[in-house]
Amino acid sequence: MRFILSLLAICWLNANYGQESLLIQNVNVWDGTSDQLKLGQQVLIEGNLIKEVAREILVEPDITRIDGQGKTLIPGLSDAHLHLAFTMGLMDTRNKADWMYTAIRAAKAAENFLHLGFTTVRDLGGPVFGLKQAIDEGLTPGPRIFPSGAFISQTSGHGDLRNPNDAHPYWSDAPLHSMDAQGWSFVVDGVPEVLKAARENLKRGATQLKVMAGGGIGSDFDPIHSIQFTPAELGAAVQAAADWDTYVAVHVYHSEGITRALEAGVKCIDHGHLINEEAIQLLKEKDAWLVPQSHWLLRSKESIEILPPRRAQKMAMVLAGAEREMELAKKYDVNLAFGTDAFGPLGGESKALNEFITRCRWYSPVEVLRQATSENAKLFQLSGKLHPYTAGKLGVIESGAYADLLIYDGNPLEDIQVIVNYKENLHFIMKDGKIIKNELE
Ligand SMILES: [Zn+2]
Repeated sequence: MRFILSLLAICWLNANYGQESLLIQNVNVWDGTSDQLKLGQQVLIEGNLIKEVAREILVEPDITRIDGQGKTLIPGLSDAHLHLAFTMGLMDTRNKADWMYTAIRAAKAAENFLHLGFTTVRDLGGPVFGLKQAIDEGLTPGPRIFPSGAFISQTSGHGDLRNPNDAHPYWSDAPLHSMDAQGWSFVVDGVPEVLKAARENLKRGATQLKVMAGGGIGSDFDPIHSIQFTPAELGAAVQAAADWDTYVAVHVYHSEGITRALEAGVKCIDHGHLINEEAIQLLKEKDAWLVPQSHWLLRSKESIEILPPRRAQKMAMVLAGAEREMELAKKYDVNLAFGTDAFGPLGGESKALNEFITRCRWYSPVEVLRQATSENAKLFQLSGKLHPYTAGKLGVIESGAYADLLIYDGNPLEDIQVIVNYKENLHFIMKDGKIIKNELE
């Protein structure tokens, strides 16, 4: 009997404090929500979750331990707006690249973002369903992904990625454009087509939908002032999303498009650089979210001048509102997510960290860090029953949260450069209870 009991005890210990348990000692903890660090803490990890955070935790003597050396432990960062699959220019993606090459590059981008400290991202357009699956299965390293799938764009909209001479497949016998066929962008018009595109993305695994609701900088056919999709079309996407218990995020800069989207039930305004007082009041009233990119303000005059003239002009128009947007966001204390719209060449991912620098013109470091952790996690909750990561909380360090955590030299609550200079300061990365990087030994 005693033998059986001790066997049961061993099984219990293995289940609770077995090999997968880990104790991080001697760290100052920022929990993702409060204003201050908790000094001299221990963090117990069990499997992929945080079991306990306290000054002293009772554990088995032989548990694996990591000495945090008095450094700062914070939740893994998240980026609410990026495009992991867009690692090449549109021309190369559209006309040259084999899909497998594109996919392998996307996997590399995902790994690079994880090494910056981003353990969760919301991918706002591009074919990343397979990448998400591979990361979740542990086949390749990367952040947790909330995928949107293909952009939903009207003909001539920001997601109409055809070459200028490509015929429109819907009124000619032209084959489906490659960006359409591979799930980068669906070009649709009218309520039935919008519904079909929305439902196709949901079928493939989208956790939210991305709709183009106004002119864009990088697209060829649409002026910035253009409003895209009628109220009925936007409403159709919102309805299709709501029927699956999720929401629509839109690309849009100007107030007319923002207002139309919000009135149609859109819950997240991405970019929004030309938002005015009335539109931001409506956003506040609707309890919707704003995802600005203030780091575009760091673009030098020269870097804009070398763009093709039309694109440079569009960029200048958008940048003219960038400071005002942040002022209004602060004034009305709106739901503000941290999203960088990162895409582009491999190795350039760290530019996303610039958003931490520019936001500190309007917010304190701890406020910005909150946006990039616990506030983003609230936005991700809008995916409702489609939320793929529900075993624990995201964006916080507390009992029951996912073991997604970072350990830095220095105190990022006082100096945001600690986050930005990640090569020198970020010594430990854990995602889902697994150690990604450890320079503490
Ligand atoms: Zn984007």
